[in-house]
Amino acid sequence: MAADPFPVVLALERIAPVVAAYPKPAMFQLADEGFRSVFEQLVACMISIRTREEVTLRLSRGLFATAPTPAAVAAMPIERLETVLAQTTFPERKARQIHDIAVATVERFDGVLPCDGATLQSFNGVGPKCANLTLGVACGIPAVSVDVHVDRVVHRWGAVAATTPEQTTIALERIVPRERWIDINRLLMPFGRYVCTAALPKCSTCPVNDLCPRIGVTRHR
Ligand code: SF4
Repeated sequence: MAADPFPVVLALERIAPVVAAYPKPAMFQLADEGFRSVFEQLVACMISIRTREEVTLRLSRGLFATAPTPAAVAAMPIERLETVLAQTTFPERKARQIHDIAVATVERFDGVLPCDGATLQSFNGVGPKCANLTLGVACGIPAVSVDVHVDRVVHRWGAVAATTPEQTTIALERIVPRERWIDINRLLMPFGRYVCTAALPKCSTCPVNDLCPRIGVTRHR
């Protein structure tokens, strides 16, 4: 007999009060601070790729203080943008990609990027993770965004058996109701960062300990 599917929604409900004690994911924090346009969210997510949360927050705030509109970013020399982004990973590549998006926003979209996933993913450097996070946070459109933390957690639960984040995204879209799609990243990113950590997850105090098969976990706290 097949095992019961992992109750993802129940897990999200238990995890919500636990992660409230930890910092919000950078994109949600930036939205709270007013950086909630499609352009700002997309750019901040690109900065966040393979970059620590604290650095993402600092560089995003710094960039938007220096250049508060897509037109202002488009007007920056790329070398200046590289300097602003120097502490992120791949600053030259990200500077070029972000500059291209700023120029396109001004020239093709009259300064306002649309809430449209296909448009966002048409830009170099933008994949489903950042496009979907932007749709969710900036536009309030249900979308699943899978980062390394989300991917690790749902695999430990046995909720998903996928080999790429894109497959994980599709699998989660099938098993989680649309009204909880934005919550997947909002809740599971900090949960994976602070509780279900890559090394030595905190299973003994975990709110879903009784539900979790701990797939692949060999040592825990
Ligand atoms: S019980 Fe352990 S492996 Fe399972 S979700 Fe909690 S911390 Fe992660």
